[in-house]
Amino acid sequence: MRNLRELCVFCGSSLGSNPAHAANAVALAHLLVADDIGLVYGGGETGLMGLIADTVLELGGRVTGIIPVSLGKEVAHRGLTELIETDTMHQRKALMYERSDGFIAMPGGLGTLEEVAEVATWRQIGMHDKPVGFLDTDGYYSSLLAWLDRAVDDGLLKEKNRALVVSSNDPATLLDLLRNDATEYEPKWQ
Ligand code: AMP
Repeated sequence: MRNLRELCVFCGSSLGSNPAHAANAVALAHLLVADDIGLVYGGGETGLMGLIADTVLELGGRVTGIIPVSLGKEVAHRGLTELIETDTMHQRKALMYERSDGFIAMPGGLGTLEEVAEVATWRQIGMHDKPVGFLDTDGYYSSLLAWLDRAVDDGLLKEKNRALVVSSNDPATLLDLLRNDATEYEPKWQ
């Protein structure tokens, strides 16, 4: 079983219109604090990002925000346990990955997709071995997950690499899947 001390959460900088997304963000925050897992995230104060950070802080948990200076001036959350400003987006992402024991993509937009696609790809090529999961609130990621299955069917994604990404609509189940993720890196190119 994996020890999750710090978990990186990618999620919308907007709140969105479906109240299920906000509800699941709050539910995940409660679980993190109950299990003494620190939140690592993009450092913003808006949307689902701000909501999960605020909730963890209100409950007495730890939050590390990592934000590039270019974004930070306008949107950084100033009440975090730790706020790290980086020069570039790429440094920010590298630090988010370094500081975390696993990754969850909650519902979000292009930024969320970009970040989760990168950590999944990096795992596929053996750059790290940290678990990656989608919080599939209200079936939000069903079309993306179906696309991954299609990629396997069409021979463009190996079944064992598809298995590097887990998902659940329930935050507690998803955390258990990450903790129990026993998949091991095998080179993609074989
Ligand atoms: P999006 O899904 O397009 O709303 O983008 C959210 C993701 O991109 C988050 O996980 C952040 O790491 C990053 N991001 C986008 N906008 C912001 C912002 N205003 N402040 C901080 N991070 C952001």
